[in-house]
Amino acid sequence: MQTNFGSPPRKRGILLQVPRLLGGLVLNNPGWCLALSQSRYEMNGLKLFQKIADCFPTKPLPPETAITQCSYLGCPDCSDIEAFFNGKQWDQVSVKDYRLHCDATSLTTQTAFNYFLPGWMSACVLDRKVADVLPEYLISVLGGKSDFSLERSHACYGLLSLKQLECAGHFFEWYIGGSDGEEDSQNASTRVQHWIAAEKARCECYVDRPIRRLRIRTIHDLQSLSIARLQAYRKKALSLESKTVDWDAIPADDDCFVWFKDDPRWKTVYLAILSALNSKHG
Ligand SMILES: [Zn+2]
Repeated sequence: MQTNFGSPPRKRGILLQVPRLLGGLVLNNPGWCLALSQSRYEMNGLKLFQKIADCFPTKPLPPETAITQCSYLGCPDCSDIEAFFNGKQWDQVSVKDYRLHCDATSLTTQTAFNYFLPGWMSACVLDRKVADVLPEYLISVLGGKSDFSLERSHACYGLLSLKQLECAGHFFEWYIGGSDGEEDSQNASTRVQHWIAAEKARCECYVDRPIRRLRIRTIHDLQSLSIARLQAYRKKALSLESKTVDWDAIPADDDCFVWFKDDPRWKTVYLAILSALNSKHG
């Protein structure tokens, strides 16, 4: 593995220390950064880092045997990555070390890739200069057109929560804001936005929509309803879920409402609606 990456980092005051303080000082001392004169781009990077640190857990670590996936026994590149990343938390690796091992973005297993993703993103936003080509490596994996990239980004996003997906989305926006916006980064951004939209739709479907319920009416009540209201009531009965998805949302011993079709009372109510409708038509 090549270890010489050009000139050593310049001394630039506090910002240079940030890599070693990943996850610690920045979060504990929100005031320090105000003392620095920084570009908007750097400030956005710091905000993004805080978001990443909030959304991605540092534990559990990937299992010892799950850092690299090389089929070539004794492969020096993979052995190097395995030895370096094994047992390390994503927030305990310096920006410089993430840069030195940037081929880990393509040589790690899916588990290790997802675990260190917040580390790679943080390293890029905390010190863009020291991170050097690291963002390009990461973005070519998540935004490239090869089968490997498509597969990896698909598997990666499938394992992320909505908040984590949004972090990745912000990361690409941040990167595009400071670059020429080459094709891979646009692809990566578009790809993650699709996942965010899909995840939001899924959440609305299962969480935000209240569970439908049907008021239980006696046959006597039903016979006093108009045909139109009976038809609406029948439609509502048919729209209930087969089984409930969220038991906690249903009050215990509810004798006013039926919440799902598997409730034996549903059939009784439904048959009563049909018989009321028949008697009106007849
Ligand atoms: Zn290898």
